[in-house]
Amino acid sequence: MTVQTSKKYKIAPEIKIFRNTRSGTYSFKDIFVGFEKLEVVRGIFGEKTSQFLSKLKVEVFPREGYMGVSDEDGHIFASQYYISQGELWSVYLDTIHELVHVRQFKEGKNLFDPAFSYVDRPTEIEAYQTGAREARRIGLTDEEIFEYLEVPWITKAEHIRLAKKCDLLIDDLSLKNNKR
Ligand SMILES: [Zn+2]
Repeated sequence: MTVQTSKKYKIAPEIKIFRNTRSGTYSFKDIFVGFEKLEVVRGIFGEKTSQFLSKLKVEVFPREGYMGVSDEDGHIFASQYYISQGELWSVYLDTIHELVHVRQFKEGKNLFDPAFSYVDRPTEIEAYQTGAREARRIGLTDEEIFEYLEVPWITKAEHIRLAKKCDLLIDDLSLKNNKR
């Protein structure tokens, strides 16, 4: 028997993510349903949230990976494996993170500015801060958010720096992390 150990986070019931989708290009709203109603998303795009999301495309690609935003036209791309098999709360928070980048791209910001390392890039900090606030709202603890921020391409020192920028109570967390 499979035991579902992950606890239930407070993701609004009107939110639906069609996780078992084939690879291809879709309208954002066809895969990520209801996001235009979220306060956090309305905070990203403002009054025209719904119209903006109606025009947004999602490219589901048939390889391992996560999610990202194209620096050519600002569409979202998402690994088919990740959106089908990743933890729902993680896919949900990553979607919000990428929506911040979608708006930044529209504003003409350089999402991959080489003048900054990943965790120091202002566009990443805004996206992670927005994601961390939403993570708290749906019920993740600071420790869980800290784990969420740990991605394979950053060092431990960068991980802690990023957590501090997201206002996590880092002193306790980094000690726990050291014991692993
Ligand atoms: Zn990002």
